[in-house]
Amino acid sequence: MSNLNQTLTIQLIPPEMVELIACHLDICSLMNLMDTCTQFRYQFLGSTYMWRRVVFDLKYGDLSAIYAALRRLRDSNGLRLLVREVVMDSTDDSMFSPLVMLVKFPNLHRLYARNRRFNTKIKEDTKALLDMIKSGTIKLKTFELERIEIYHHYMTTEPYLEVFQRTIQRLSRHPSVYIDIRMCGDVSEQQGTQPKTQTQTQTQTQTLETDQLNPTQSSPPCQKIVSKVAKCWACDYHFKQCWMCAPFCGGCNSRRLPPMVNDQKKQQNLINQRLLQQTNALRQQDPVEDEFSVFE
Ligand SMILES: [Zn+2]
Ligand SMILES: [Zn+2]
Repeated sequence: MSNLNQTLTIQLIPPEMVELIACHLDICSLMNLMDTCTQFRYQFLGSTYMWRRVVFDLKYGDLSAIYAALRRLRDSNGLRLLVREVVMDSTDDSMFSPLVMLVKFPNLHRLYARNRRFNTKIKEDTKALLDMIKSGTIKLKTFELERIEIYHHYMTTEPYLEVFQRTIQRLSRHPSVYIDIRMCGDVSEQQGTQPKTQTQTQTQTQTLETDQLNPTQSSPPCQKIVSKVAKCWACDYHFKQCWMCAPFCGGCNSRRLPPMVNDQKKQQNLINQRLLQQTNALRQQDPVEDEFSVFE
């Protein structure tokens, strides 16, 4: 009896609200919800919006469940072509590669595969892509890709980054594919312009004013990988160089922290700010309660 009541309750939720909830689910949970009843199955398969963003999360489904879900995004039901964005952050498993997504979803615009410390392999991925181009498995200028994010805090140097970027660019129809990492010493990237030749880069490094405190005129550009969106946890200053080259923040002048510690503190700051806003909002909603506060 209680089961019947629960089913009826779920089915009474307006379809647009179900769609809104479904958009926040990972792919395994989404498939499970779709399988609960015929009504949901029809609604989900008929939706174009729901499948635009696909999230993979190993917390809610193991690899076999993820692959089973992937197999259900097919041409025959039209779902494969609907996917525009894939999020597979923190899915640090050697059996699960971002390349699968690039090949599987021809209309993919954005791919997020961040925090995959042990399985972000730019060199291997580049070689695999080049092999696929050579064998004709994938064709140049056929991808819709415009953004790919792969940063994790343990990145050091990536000698294949430039080849990777070039290969992705050759595959995509988009005029400029954004990748969220760059070399610390790549001045053209710091200025937001197109990549220059090696000689141009070196000349500009000597003249550019940056947050570097003691620039060494003759030293070669730093090869360390940095996140393009790295910001100071305290003042939100946008870092242009790694924390070794620029040990003090260009905004608040405080000593910089290692990237992971900086980002953890930034995250904690955001949580604290949100809690404070919620507390203030509650106080404003219910000012009467303050009159009886034990602190007054
Ligand atoms: Zn550096
Ligand atoms: Zn700062």
